[in-house]
Amino acid sequence: MGEQVEQLKKHLQRYYDLNAAAALLGWDQQVNMPPGGAAARGEQSATLSALSHELFTAEETARRLEAAEAEVAGMEFDADDASLVRVLRRHYDRATKIPTELVAERAKVTALAFEAWRQARAENNVALFEPHLERVIEVTRRIADALGYEEHPYDALLQNFEPGMRTSQVSRLFNDLKAGLTPLLQAITERGKPIDDSFLGRHYDVGRQWDFTLVILRDMGYDFNRGRQDQAPHPFTTNFGRNDVRLTTRLISDRPQSALFSSVHEGGHALYEQGSPERFERTALSGGATMALHESQSRLWENMIGRSKPFWQHYFPILRAFFPEQLADVRLDDFYRAVNVVRPDFIRTEADEVTYNLHIFIRFELEQALLSGALTAREVPEAWNARYQDYLGITPRDDAEGCLQDVHWSSGLIGYFPTYALGNLIAAQLYRRMKADLPGMEEGFARGEFLPPLQWLREHVHRHGSKFTAPELLARELGEEISAEPLLEYIRARYSEIYEL
Ligand code: MG
Repeated sequence: MGEQVEQLKKHLQRYYDLNAAAALLGWDQQVNMPPGGAAARGEQSATLSALSHELFTAEETARRLEAAEAEVAGMEFDADDASLVRVLRRHYDRATKIPTELVAERAKVTALAFEAWRQARAENNVALFEPHLERVIEVTRRIADALGYEEHPYDALLQNFEPGMRTSQVSRLFNDLKAGLTPLLQAITERGKPIDDSFLGRHYDVGRQWDFTLVILRDMGYDFNRGRQDQAPHPFTTNFGRNDVRLTTRLISDRPQSALFSSVHEGGHALYEQGSPERFERTALSGGATMALHESQSRLWENMIGRSKPFWQHYFPILRAFFPEQLADVRLDDFYRAVNVVRPDFIRTEADEVTYNLHIFIRFELEQALLSGALTAREVPEAWNARYQDYLGITPRDDAEGCLQDVHWSSGLIGYFPTYALGNLIAAQLYRRMKADLPGMEEGFARGEFLPPLQWLREHVHRHGSKFTAPELLARELGEEISAEPLLEYIRARYSEIYEL
């Protein structure tokens, strides 16, 4: 390794340590902290963020980065050192392009917007949030200008969360997907064989639910020596290096599928982090790469594997041993169909595989319209409801279950939503190749064998850490661009069979 790259890495180790400490405070806040601790915790977190930002944007970082760039010039694109410097340059430019005053203004605007959103949602009064959303959009527009873009201001924001992706490309992908999903959803609601999932509403002891999630996580290959599971109202995964990766789940007694699929979903995120190479620790290359690649891992485990028939051929008898009374009159096939029920609903986070992406398209379209000025904050509720009617055939009864349901806009996270749908697309592409590479893999699920998919993901995704963007990784490992067809094929096959279309 070159001397300059070594110096740069050393210089930034404290930055990654500060970020890990901040993440631990965040984990504690959501898992353990009593409500009274919120104000002090907010100050502690802000102090750590300020220190870490100062360290990263310091003159010394710029100087060392330039020296390292000279040293890696001419190296292979995917060499560790060249990749580290390339990724750091991207992070550094994004961290320094926005003027400090604008960063401070965004923090102020979003802090107020978040409180207003909370109140507006609780009181179902969207008017309380509208002026704040207008200010968030205005400051976001200036941030997009500061970051710079070629085609559309939305590109600058999208790059924050999904480097290498353009708005025009995402629009094309979503249009392809929408063209395939809409007729399928119509066929399911009009002539699909009805599914009775009422038995999922019985009382399932939460302690037993918890034990069952631990069985699945162990079988998936999640290493409890380097991780743990806790409870949180909104499940998430966080980590402080590859050897301490923590996930959370949510236990609801009359909704056992919530804990089940939350644990498998977060387990997919956690396996990605645990699979990051040791040599990348405390550098920009450690851990999962982009939002969409991360979501591809969680969705692949949750949906492609966790909602498959062979998965339940193995686990249904085990689950029935945990809940003999509740599931006495339920057959494997009833259970399999119940956990795959398709039901257009208002709430994105509860959506099934067929309707989920439609929720994302609505947000993606509205964000672009807000940013370009074609839509004002005041017009959002009406535009939101019209699109729900158009795409899903339903109209929210009020704004709390309509445009006020997500936290993202109040926090200034504009450009984030598309990564969820992109993750679904990538998951299907990876899964298709994995299946071709591992004949008999799905038959293995029915025998409780889940290490082959994990090993495949380790080899093709996890071992690269954060070296590559999503398009780079797909080109290298699959020889493909991101596309909608694999997801459409997979969804059509599964749901035509389930609904006997
Ligand atoms: Mg996720």
